[in-house]
Amino acid sequence: MTRFANFCAGPASMPTAVLERARDEMLNWQGLGASVMEISHRGSHYTQLAEQTEANLRQLMNISDDYAVLFLQGGAALQFSAVVLNLLNNGTADYLLTGAWSQKAYQEAKRYETLGLGKINLVATGGEAGFVDVPDRSQWQLDDAASYFHYCPNETIHGVQMFQVPQVDAPIVADMSSCILSEPIDVNKFAMIYAGAQKNIGPAGLTLVIIRKDLLDRASAYCPAVMNYQNQLDNGSMMNTPATYAWYLAGLVFEWLLEQGGVEAIAKINHAKAKTLYDAIDGSDFYSNKVNPAYRSIMNVPFQLADDALDKVFLAESEQAGLLNLKGHRVVGGMRASIYNAITLEQVQALTAFMAEFERKYG
Ligand SMILES: *Cc1c(COP(=O)(O)O)cnc(C)c1O
Repeated sequence: MTRFANFCAGPASMPTAVLERARDEMLNWQGLGASVMEISHRGSHYTQLAEQTEANLRQLMNISDDYAVLFLQGGAALQFSAVVLNLLNNGTADYLLTGAWSQKAYQEAKRYETLGLGKINLVATGGEAGFVDVPDRSQWQLDDAASYFHYCPNETIHGVQMFQVPQVDAPIVADMSSCILSEPIDVNKFAMIYAGAQKNIGPAGLTLVIIRKDLLDRASAYCPAVMNYQNQLDNGSMMNTPATYAWYLAGLVFEWLLEQGGVEAIAKINHAKAKTLYDAIDGSDFYSNKVNPAYRSIMNVPFQLADDALDKVFLAESEQAGLLNLKGHRVVGGMRASIYNAITLEQVQALTAFMAEFERKYG
């Protein structure tokens, strides 16, 4: 069996050990004579799995009882609306734009302003410079009484990461789809965290929401029942049928992460992986990364070749070398290596060795 190094931005590589365990448990889960995807989500076996999965996530991220943890569907993109419908409360919301995803969240929120549900305030945007930097704090236009402040700590497409939580008065809402569980964070600094699962948690179909319970009382009457956080909390994230198999796989990933030594341990590896790759890029005249070094993502590394006519050759030869999905997002071009938790340091070293050889041949 051959598994290649898969640098896909999402759905992304999963730990091989997790997939092997899922394979072994596929036909007969816990002696039930059925797969976990074929049983009732309301039965005692699945309920126990759900509880254990939440407990493991709480342990990994050090989440206190002040927060609800929800296992929802609809992807991070549905949260762009859910955040507004649950938290705007006819007030004003601040949006900081540091890349394509925070921009999309902002655009979606703006639709509700048009519908008269409140105001959506643009704090600042790095868009004019092409999202290679975070707008300077002195230029931020914050609303004094904002219902919440929304930002994206790791911009998956542009490779821009904010390592410090912004110092703002409003409750902070963060789209952590591509950086959750990659390094320790202080959950208490956030009002809400959300993440689509398919980058660092598991397969697509599951969306994680972590929200401070005192914020659950302000949903709009327009908020659909399945999107209403209080309602989902009251129903154990099972108001309707949840994404049971994706939830199960997320649980296996959390167990795997605990076995690796938790988020602290994986963060050390993640920083070593990122350093290996950025050193290779900075140490050559052939490869480049345009992001301000202070904000370079440790999860998603876009890079350009000196001559983009070589992009196709690079992609073909890297694929032959067992290095998959390095094509950059179309809005940025060039290459992008997504190096989430499941990617090993050895796989990143295989990539940098290939890059050096490619430069020697064509540079
Ligand atoms: C992938 C991604 C999204 C979109 O996630 P979906 O689950 O496809 O809706 C949103 N935000 C960020 C930061 C992402 O990386």
